[in-house]
Amino acid sequence: MKELTLNDGNIIPIIGFGTYLATEQEGIETLQNALKNGYCLIDTAAMYHNEVSVGKAIKSSGINREDIFITTKLWRDNLSYKHTKTAFNTSLEKLGLDYIDLYLIHWPANTKNYNDWKSANANAWRAMEELQSEGKIKSIGVSNFWQEHLDALMQTANVMPAINQIEFHPGYWQPEVTNYCKKLGIEVESWSPLARGRVFENAVLKNLAKKYGKSVSQICLRWVIQHDVVVIPKSTTPERIKENINIFDFVISDGDMAKINELPEMGFSGELPNL
Ligand code: NAP
Repeated sequence: MKELTLNDGNIIPIIGFGTYLATEQEGIETLQNALKNGYCLIDTAAMYHNEVSVGKAIKSSGINREDIFITTKLWRDNLSYKHTKTAFNTSLEKLGLDYIDLYLIHWPANTKNYNDWKSANANAWRAMEELQSEGKIKSIGVSNFWQEHLDALMQTANVMPAINQIEFHPGYWQPEVTNYCKKLGIEVESWSPLARGRVFENAVLKNLAKKYGKSVSQICLRWVIQHDVVVIPKSTTPERIKENINIFDFVISDGDMAKINELPEMGFSGELPNL
């Protein structure tokens, strides 16, 4: 399977499994299924309230810890030095692990929820840098950061974020943020790569699915990885879990990539880092 090398030298699989809205029992079963089908990156977050089931699924899979890449995230209420350390330890305990592969600031602090949003992000980042140097986190990164958040963070950061996880799907893929990250050596990871189903009826995507003999979902996911962007689709349906990882036996042509790039805005979640 294709992988990307992060700016800290660590390696991340190009495809992983999202767990947002996966409930406790549903979470364990679907994750076990995903791991059996070859996903080896699991994306969770403190805010998803499913870290305990993610941990149980990993343990019961029998797969070696070092062969699974685990991401979890720091919720935006905890953006201080002290709260970051506490929140991280809680996540680690819930997951039942002794290290995390990738820890992300889930959403940047902004002027509406922090008096000094730059310091809030910077202080959380300092705590994450320390946790990384102690070996408790392999890679540290951010999520939903725009250029202004990255620029502010880099004024005090000693470690450059390895990843920026952003909304990225046909119809809303934030090329400016993506290009800026790539220029800085920050890899991009796509959340809601299927726009939670909101792009499935698009005629261009449906025609391409027919042309390549694939599903619309597979076209969306293949398009993401051909941008060298990590993709983390979520599904609780066994056939779809299998279908979504079956994207390595075809290539979307440059012309068709451009067609998808140029689709008008659609499927946007409405979630922005300044809200
Ligand atoms: P998504 O992966 O774009 O879409 C998931 C939805 O699509 C589910 O309703 C799923 O239904 C359906 N689906 C999946 N595969 C399908 C297929 N082959 N055919 C038809 N329908 C299919 O949305 P997401 O869960 O929002 O995003 C993925 C992951 O990104 C999340 O789970 C989470 O880990 C992460 N995320 C991060 C952030 C952030 O702020 N950093 C925000 C949102 C999400 P079923 O489950 O019923 O099969």
